[in-house]
Amino acid sequence: MMIKRELFLTDCDKESIRSILFASGACAVGFAKAEPVDSEVWRGFTDWLSRGDNAGMEYMYNYPDLRRDPRLLLDGAKTVISIAYSYAPAKWRNPDLGEIAAYAYGKDYHKVLRKLLKPALNEISATYSDSAFRICIDSAPVLERYWAQKAGIGFIGDNSALIVPGYGSMVFLVEILTTLDIAPDNPDTRDCGHCGACRKACPGKAIMGNCQIDCRRCISYLTIEHRGEWILEESSEVMKTEAARNSIYGCDTCLRVCPHNRGVPPTSIEDFHPSIQMLSLSFEYIKSLKNSEDLQRLIPGSPMTRAGVSGLLRNISPDCRHCR
Ligand code: SF4
Ligand code: SF4
Repeated sequence: MMIKRELFLTDCDKESIRSILFASGACAVGFAKAEPVDSEVWRGFTDWLSRGDNAGMEYMYNYPDLRRDPRLLLDGAKTVISIAYSYAPAKWRNPDLGEIAAYAYGKDYHKVLRKLLKPALNEISATYSDSAFRICIDSAPVLERYWAQKAGIGFIGDNSALIVPGYGSMVFLVEILTTLDIAPDNPDTRDCGHCGACRKACPGKAIMGNCQIDCRRCISYLTIEHRGEWILEESSEVMKTEAARNSIYGCDTCLRVCPHNRGVPPTSIEDFHPSIQMLSLSFEYIKSLKNSEDLQRLIPGSPMTRAGVSGLLRNISPDCRHCR
């Protein structure tokens, strides 16, 4: 009688998959059973939406069924593999030059991580050719921090970031859905310790204390995701703060003050290292750029180029502290 190999993997098979993914540059890899999201967590998410804390991210209302149950994203999915890749910088920009979120220091993570994962997944698929795999890098409605916690790779901080022990919260998360039935790892049930530093330091008072953020008050959201002017009263109030006036693109305050990020090793992924141009980019230089092609030439492949020159000029005017 033929036994289908993918029915349930041995510990050895599982560790071999984990090793392949670690070799792709990951700092944490975990496995969770694909099943509907826990009802309490789902209620927390829908409460967040119903308060309007998702601000202009209308897409968060889309596909609730798929977001609730990853098995609808891949026919026959049995396992969610959660993977973290560090982008912790070896060098930070001088804050006097204006804040740029560290995640944007290097190349666009969507492309970098797909490039790193492709050979790894080819290697895994070669062994399990009857099984299906789907890589999700912000490309499907998935509650990624929930799955990371469930797969045991970290826990969620009060600032809503996923914290990987030993690597901190400057990590990108990827999920691979697969029909392979892999024994789940133990969920990480710890909390961050609630030291309160992020809440105290947040310039927008956006941290709600329940691992959730009010995006209407978050400088990261307002300078990266938000389109157009800041019409809401609370958003325009936040964008007048000193921290927002010093932001070119994003805000890392709640990550910088978190003790879990102290002394973490910098990313080993070359494409996430900042170029000299990124480290020295100033408000004045941005104002001198003629068009988005100039920006693309200056910091090729950075996620910041998605904003274009007009988006960055919106962020730094008229109230930026360098323009007063
Ligand atoms: S990114 Fe900045 S504004 Fe947003 S929650 Fe963190 S500290 Fe607050
Ligand atoms: S700064 Fe403190 S409260 Fe905030 S996430 Fe880190 S450990 Fe938790």
